[in-house]
Amino acid sequence: MENSDIAILGAGMSGLSLGTELSRRGIPFTVYEAEATPGGLCRTWRTGPFRWDLGVHALYSKDNAFQDFLTSLPLSYQSCDRTVKICHLANDAVYELEYPFENGLYQLPDDDWEDCIVGYMESCASKTNSFKNLSDWIYCGLGSGIARCFMIPYNTKIWNSQLDNISLKLVSNKIEPEPFEKIIQGALGHRYIGRAYQSKFLYPHNGIQTLVDTLHAPISRSVHLNKLLRRITPQANGYTLDFADATHATCRTIISTIPLPTLIDALPYPELAARREQLRHNDTFFIMIGLKDGKAFGRFKSCHWVFFAGDEIFYRLTFMENFYDGFRPAVVAEYTVKTGDVVSRDALVETVVSDLLRRGILGSADDIACVDTQFQQYTYPIPTLDLDDVKTYLTEFLAAKNIYLVGRNGAWEYLNIDGVFASATRFVAAMPYRS
Ligand SMILES: Cc1cc2nc3c(=O)[nH]c(=O)nc-3n(C[C@H](O)[C@H](O)[C@H](O)COP(=O)(O)OP(=O)(O)OC[C@H]3O[C@@H](n4cnc5c(N)ncnc54)[C@H](O)[C@@H]3O)c2cc1C
Repeated sequence: MENSDIAILGAGMSGLSLGTELSRRGIPFTVYEAEATPGGLCRTWRTGPFRWDLGVHALYSKDNAFQDFLTSLPLSYQSCDRTVKICHLANDAVYELEYPFENGLYQLPDDDWEDCIVGYMESCASKTNSFKNLSDWIYCGLGSGIARCFMIPYNTKIWNSQLDNISLKLVSNKIEPEPFEKIIQGALGHRYIGRAYQSKFLYPHNGIQTLVDTLHAPISRSVHLNKLLRRITPQANGYTLDFADATHATCRTIISTIPLPTLIDALPYPELAARREQLRHNDTFFIMIGLKDGKAFGRFKSCHWVFFAGDEIFYRLTFMENFYDGFRPAVVAEYTVKTGDVVSRDALVETVVSDLLRRGILGSADDIACVDTQFQQYTYPIPTLDLDDVKTYLTEFLAAKNIYLVGRNGAWEYLNIDGVFASATRFVAAMPYRS
């Protein structure tokens, strides 16, 4: 049985960042990871000659410390100028709009343009600035036109939740709406760059997995793979961890980066069950379509990402070849599985191919060299209305027991890699655990 003072659960970017920081400070730790490969959501898959991420991971941040950290690593990056479009359908035609949607209003056909502008002006005139939830903010803050043309159908596609149960945190932390002047300028055709800090990003040569491998290598002796945690049992002086391979370990402090519901399921505290049920998340299918030699995608092929609010099954496409020159042409489609959906992979692939053909993105089904799918649970923790209370209760309850929550799924926060890195660094600097 392995004994360690600090056990880190999960070797995604959070577990690896925590390990890197602890190791820098000479503090011993052990990481336990369920899979045979570290990385969690940050994985690059190989399918024949194609390499693809789950939705791809672009590296950007407002935080200079993260940029410095990236450039300090022995890694090569491709520097990319973000190219993102929105696919808008009207009058039996496809319109390619700037992203975010407010930037591309001037590219809308006349009827939709008028609807969006009138709706937006009406919402501004009503001077409502206190909104109850995402749906309310879309209808009353952006107006009925923008709601109808993009924001409602797109958000309905991506979120496995009613939009009136999603909090305004999503708006302030992720959507980051443009101010009035910019929206009006955009509608009149003055081009500007929305979410400018994301407009340039880095992508590691050969895929995001190389970043994971670079972090993993120096601490690999402390990272135990194939350790699927099943049960945590409190002991007089810490915990016993039971793994699916019938091995065990002990520790005094737990830092958990595994999905919060999984952690609660492993613990013997029935009083957490009701809060667990309030944690809502997305699960996602990723469908990769790789092309034969000499074949190319049609519409949108120079984009990094394209967003879809129409009747296509996917809400987003990623064109892998635009992230790294060494990648072959492959597109990755994302589909959110809604609670209760029964999904057949074959049917999903068939629909994705047919939607790619309908939109002129794929020239012919004969161009396809290979197809692959990955199902990933816990892709997005959903910022529901009651989440702050639930999280405060769980965080305090567990911290009192020397169990700490870090990361996107661990702390149930919609973080990107830079946020994960920052929260791991902050956690180790504050070091609340009792040894
Ligand atoms: C579609 C998509 C696109 C994204 N794009 C970007 C982007 O462009 N840029 C960006 O910066 N960020 C992006 N992100 C966010 C980024 O992926 C996350 O912030 C980051 O990977 C989270 O790392 P984590 O370690 O907190 O969680 P995870 O990656 O979820 O790691 C948790 C780890 O715990 C392990 N685990 C789970 N259960 C157990 C168990 N019972 N026992 C042991 N181990 C267990 C898992 O296998 C996993 O390795 C994207 C995310 C998604 C889903």
